[in-house]
Amino acid sequence: MSTAIVVGAGIGGVTAAVALQRRGWQVTVLERAAELGEVGAGISVWPSAVAVLEELGVKGVEKVSVPSKPAGMRKPDGRWVVSAAELGVEIPVMIHRAQLHDLITAGFGPAVTVRTGYDVRTVAQDADGVTVNDELRADLLVAADGIRSMVRRTLYPQYAGPRYAGFTAYRGIADVELDDGGGETWGRGQLFGFARLIDGRYYWYGTANQPAGTTSEPTVFESWHDPIPRLIAGSEKVLQNDIYDLTLPLVPFVQGRVVLLGDAAHAMTPNLGRGACSAIEDAGALDRHLRDGDLHTALTAYDAERRPATTKLVKRSRSLGRLAQTENPLVCTLREGLFTLGGKLMSLRARK
Ligand SMILES: Cc1cc2nc3c(=O)[nH]c(=O)nc-3n(C[C@H](O)[C@H](O)[C@H](O)COP(=O)(O)OP(=O)(O)OC[C@H]3O[C@@H](n4cnc5c(N)ncnc54)[C@H](O)[C@@H]3O)c2cc1C
Repeated sequence: MSTAIVVGAGIGGVTAAVALQRRGWQVTVLERAAELGEVGAGISVWPSAVAVLEELGVKGVEKVSVPSKPAGMRKPDGRWVVSAAELGVEIPVMIHRAQLHDLITAGFGPAVTVRTGYDVRTVAQDADGVTVNDELRADLLVAADGIRSMVRRTLYPQYAGPRYAGFTAYRGIADVELDDGGGETWGRGQLFGFARLIDGRYYWYGTANQPAGTTSEPTVFESWHDPIPRLIAGSEKVLQNDIYDLTLPLVPFVQGRVVLLGDAAHAMTPNLGRGACSAIEDAGALDRHLRDGDLHTALTAYDAERRPATTKLVKRSRSLGRLAQTENPLVCTLREGLFTLGGKLMSLRARK
């Protein structure tokens, strides 16, 4: 039986383990953290990623998700730039990260072994296999060890890696009663978004421009429209993460028997809400290509499919992030005008 080691048990790593198991591989997942799990925040999952999960046999996405209502975009004072009624676009579903992670790992069978508290420090490969920490050996290694991937650094020591996007993100889950479909509010250099989760609580996120490594609170949103201050006040915990993506061009996702997947390969800013979805889609692609060919052909096809597709997303996400975080008043006014016009055009198209 073919053997694989997956480094990292984030959403990418666990989905890759499910995919490999499906193809009949014996899989060992190595995770540095003491326990499996995900942070306390929501995540938007797009239809293409939901389709991959279903294809991989991950059941029950609909039981833990709420379709995000296309509620549109507001200004900090609450006036609509584009309202819900005008939008007729494809929308993601909203899921609590921990629930999504649990749903995927529920698909692990006897072919998957998970070792938590295991730090991968070295990776070496030869013609026959890959060795981790001089003690574990497998035919294939999937590096799903996140944006600061140790495996990627080993393969490509010259690569510049993560670059700071110029802003930080706050996230929380609020236990509040609301009658509001959610959506995003864009200010000058900040944005705030929220959506309901299946259990009735609300997931929210906010961004602010600041130097990397600055610890701060989302105080800037205190003067924004209702229910934004209530959402922040109603959250037990606020997470803060500086936003990075990976320098372009991305490095090849495959070197010999080692495959990069998820943020390790193509970390992007969260503006499109596509990072974890892309990790899921990587796992779907790996599954498909492993079904169709020998290992070398399958990995070559995986890189040929996923690198160009995710390069586009890294670029688009970063551009959208720049537009969202601009502090230039003229650009903000132009941006609002464009969104209003775009909303009207979409509305016309939807009515046709
Ligand atoms: C604010 C914010 C909002 C976001 N919103 C969305 C969204 O709505 N939709 C969406 O699709 N994406 C979103 N994303 C992106 C998404 O969170 C990531 O793309 C996704 O979580 C990446 O998953 P991953 O499994 O590739 O990496 P990670 O989740 O980073 O997992 C890597 C794992 O590897 C482990 N690890 C690292 N090094 C080692 C080692 N040496 N040995 C063993 N284990 C190791 C880590 O402990 C970790 O568990 C958002 C990101 C942010 C920051």
